[in-house]
Amino acid sequence: MKVAILGAGQLAQLLTHSAYQLGVETVCIAENDFDAILQQVKDCDVITLENENVDVALLEQLQAHKPVYPGSNTIAVAQERFLEKSLFKALDIPTPPFAKIDSLADLEAALSTIGVPAVLKTRRFGYDGKGQTVIKKLSEAKSAWELTGKNPAILEGFIDFDFEVSLIAARSVSGELIFYPLIKNTHRDGILRVSESPFEDVHLQQLAESYVQRLFEELNYVGVLGFEFFVKGDSLIANEIAPRVHNSGHLTIEGFNASQFENHLRAVLNLPLVKPILQAQTTMHNIIGAFPKLMPADYINCHVYDYGKESRPNRKVGHITQFKPF
Ligand code: AMP
Repeated sequence: MKVAILGAGQLAQLLTHSAYQLGVETVCIAENDFDAILQQVKDCDVITLENENVDVALLEQLQAHKPVYPGSNTIAVAQERFLEKSLFKALDIPTPPFAKIDSLADLEAALSTIGVPAVLKTRRFGYDGKGQTVIKKLSEAKSAWELTGKNPAILEGFIDFDFEVSLIAARSVSGELIFYPLIKNTHRDGILRVSESPFEDVHLQQLAESYVQRLFEELNYVGVLGFEFFVKGDSLIANEIAPRVHNSGHLTIEGFNASQFENHLRAVLNLPLVKPILQAQTTMHNIIGAFPKLMPADYINCHVYDYGKESRPNRKVGHITQFKPF
């Protein structure tokens, strides 16, 4: 079996590592030209992706030749925040109040209904807090609109949440489902810093699973998906979905009998999924900017992942997972 992965970053690397253990081949494709991709996927069973910012028309073209999971319908929603939030609303999944913004006049009108504080986010290509501005006073509308480059945007009500969690879930081609326990996440400046597993709360777990299940059925989803929520009291407020393996799920490598990477490969190849069984308490720390000089032998029960990237401010260049086996 062979899986083509569109993208060649750390998520593709981690999928490839897991594929070796399953006896599955992979090809990581960095090009975005249709003919070049088609050539490389010839002997592959399926195409998957590590990043939702892929041209939807290109995916539709590829789908005519090979199965692409998750499909272009999901990618179109996940790469455009207004479509994403509108889908949550249609499926009765709580989400912050939001409005579509295409001009300063739209922004001023939306601020008068949503109120402040609020967050202005570009509709596309936003990740790790990029393209986001918090508006604290109505008078900041013009400067916020300019800061986001006057690009198509959405305005969201600012949620004074207690903390953030994510649910990593998978659905296979034949519709089999698995869910990991919730993961507790800490962000700073819009970038994920620390993830901790397991976060055990029966009520929130059931709620998160029911929301993901609704979404999976609506999209006929195949693969792993990361769903990020704000927790406020005993309710979950949907922030965003990542239609792929997710940064907060990296700790599933050490924490469970099967990682998110293994279950993703299984899901897209229509192999039986592995029901996650907790094996260790884990904490993952992202390494942002520059990779420190580490002596791995000094650290017991720590795995160090160096993505081999050049240093750059706010860039995820690696992560470390600490684990306490039971
Ligand atoms: P995003 O790129 O939309 O996931 O946003 C990155 C981070 O910014 C989130 O994980 C939150 O910590 C924060 N954030 C985003 N949207 C909101 C919001 N509506 N209210 C409060 N915090 C937010």
